[in-house]
Amino acid sequence: MVRVMSCEPLSLVNEGIRGLTPYQPGKSTEALERELGLTHIIKLASNESPLGPSPMARAMALVELDELSRYPDGAGAELRAVLSSAHGVPEQCFTLGNGSNDVLELVARVFVSAEHEVVYSEHAFAVYPLVTRAIGARGVEIPARDWGHDLGAMAGAVGEHTRLVFIANPNNPTGTWNDGAALERFLDGLPEHVIVVIDQAYAEYVDESGYPDCIPWISRYPNLVVTRTFSKAHGLAGLRVGYGVSSAEIAELLNRVRQPFNVNSVALAAAAAALEDDEHLARSVQVNRSGLRQLRAGFDAMGIEVIPSVANFLSFAVPGGAASEVYSRLLHEGIIVRPVANYGLPGHLRVTVGLEDENARFLEALAKVVSQP
Ligand SMILES: *Cc1c(COP(=O)(O)O)cnc(C)c1O
Repeated sequence: MVRVMSCEPLSLVNEGIRGLTPYQPGKSTEALERELGLTHIIKLASNESPLGPSPMARAMALVELDELSRYPDGAGAELRAVLSSAHGVPEQCFTLGNGSNDVLELVARVFVSAEHEVVYSEHAFAVYPLVTRAIGARGVEIPARDWGHDLGAMAGAVGEHTRLVFIANPNNPTGTWNDGAALERFLDGLPEHVIVVIDQAYAEYVDESGYPDCIPWISRYPNLVVTRTFSKAHGLAGLRVGYGVSSAEIAELLNRVRQPFNVNSVALAAAAAALEDDEHLARSVQVNRSGLRQLRAGFDAMGIEVIPSVANFLSFAVPGGAASEVYSRLLHEGIIVRPVANYGLPGHLRVTVGLEDENARFLEALAKVVSQP
């Protein structure tokens, strides 16, 4: 018999993965129910849509349940056709992902090797350092400016080893954004050996003149990948579907490593239907807009400072900096928000915009717990 040598898996691991900690999702309603025996829990922790998906998307998902023994369409042809007409970009420019996270990882895997550097901002989306380190590449984190991306400093950090830049616009968890002119200046100044991802997961929510739809830019910038998702304003986070838009050449490269059936059949059907329901999307955006106003007014009334956000969440400075204390007190009130210490914001918490009564209950609970000694 061959004797298998016992070995420490940690000693065998890829160098980049040794120091990684897994992505921390928001606490689930079920977990809080179990832990504290609470009911009527409000989860405002993961930037999910409080309205849920379009009824048409739900109906198409149900239809698809009759075909669960079949593999999905590996090319996602129908969804790509709908995306193509929605955005006015050829079908070959789309890369479908199991959530847009999948696309972010594909870009890193396709273009970045261990000898490269990846540039991103302080307080930016946690997936950027995660996918960078998993490859063993070096992450270069640029200090934020007014909580947001300092594009000038980011451009200054690009050097001969830089292969990829991640820009979240708007950014999570700060909700900050960069205008079209500044982004174009950034892209115009970049050397040709650098790929740029502009992550527009929250684009639908933004109501600012000067905020750009970056998708048409792919015809001018051959090194640009724009990512979008059905997880946020379309309310389909549970199904996991997002996409990248780029030159057909980049899309072809991404599709080489994409798993053939990375987007499941229910997600493909629901996403295509969601994209055609403009009315539901408009309602989702409207609910968010008034919810943002409601939350901002509530924070103002309590004298609590928020980071100005254009997305579907707000990060606020907990009075006295006691974020973890206030987080657990809110849990005991049945309200789940998101700690953001792992984003370099140890004194803040992030709350997702909910329905009017959810926002009101959150504000009421917050007022109660911050006034406790
Ligand atoms: C939520 C989010 C995404 C989207 O993730 P999915 O994988 O599409 O669910 C992407 N980028 C940022 C900045 C996000 O906050």
